[in-house]
Amino acid sequence: MSRKLFIAGNWKMNSSAASSVEVAAGMASELGAIDAVDMAICPPFVYIPGVVEAFKGSNIGVGAQNMYFEDNGAFTGEISGQMLKDIGCRYVILGHSERRHVLGETDALINTKVTKALADELEIMFCVGELLDERKADQTTAVVTRQITEGLKNISREAMSSITIAYEPVWAIGTGETATPDQAQDVHATIRGLVGQLYDAEIADAVRIQYGGSVKPSNAAELLGCPDVDGALVGGASMTVADFAGIVNSVL
Ligand code: PEP
Repeated sequence: MSRKLFIAGNWKMNSSAASSVEVAAGMASELGAIDAVDMAICPPFVYIPGVVEAFKGSNIGVGAQNMYFEDNGAFTGEISGQMLKDIGCRYVILGHSERRHVLGETDALINTKVTKALADELEIMFCVGELLDERKADQTTAVVTRQITEGLKNISREAMSSITIAYEPVWAIGTGETATPDQAQDVHATIRGLVGQLYDAEIADAVRIQYGGSVKPSNAAELLGCPDVDGALVGGASMTVADFAGIVNSVL
C-alpha cells in the first residue's frame, strides 16, 4: 500500500497572537492548495482559533498539542477534546516526549487520553521515542514497544485509521541532532512489525509513522524517502513559512 505522507508542525509553547496568524496565512497561501501530502499545524491552545481562520479553505489542518480526558468540570487549567473540536481542531498530539518527560505523563494516562480523543473523533499523532541513555543501552525497541503496547491498550483495529504514530527519538528533538535515515527506518520498521503483531498485516501496512527530531528542509527528503517513514512531526522548522514549505516541497 502506498501511504500518503503526513507532515505536521508542533509549535510547542511558542508564537504570539500576531505571528501565529501571520505565519499561518503565509503557509495557507504558499502550501494551502497542495493535495499530494497531508499537512497540519499544532499551535498553542490560545492561538488555535486564529490559525483555524487563517487556514480556512486551505488543505492545512489544525491540531492541538495535548488535551484532557474529561469533557468538562472541575479540572482547572485543562482543555477537553470536545473543546478542541468545537474550535475547529481535527488533530491532537498525544504522548509527546515533553509531556512524558517534562510534565510527567505516564503510558496509562496517555492511553486514557488516546481513548477519549478517539471518542471525540479527533485524529491522533501518538508520539513515542527513547531517551539517549536508553538508545545507548540498546533499549530502543523495548521502550517503543512498551509505549505503543501500553498507549494503544484496548484501542480497536477500526480506530487505528485515526491514529498516526510519531517516532521521535528524544535525543533528536530540538537538539539539531537528527537520526540517520538508517536509524529512523530501522525503528519505523520495528514499529510497523509491532503494529502487525498487535493488530494484523493490513493495519500495519496502513498505519502512518511520522519521524520527528530536528527535521529541516535540508534533511527531510532523505528521511521521508525511507520506505517506512510516512511523514514528519516538525518542531522548530515548522515555525516559519520558509522552513515548513521547504520540508513540504522537498517531498513533492
Ligand atoms: C517536536 O517538537 O516534536 C520536534 C520534533 O521538534 P524539533 O523538530 O524542533 O526537533
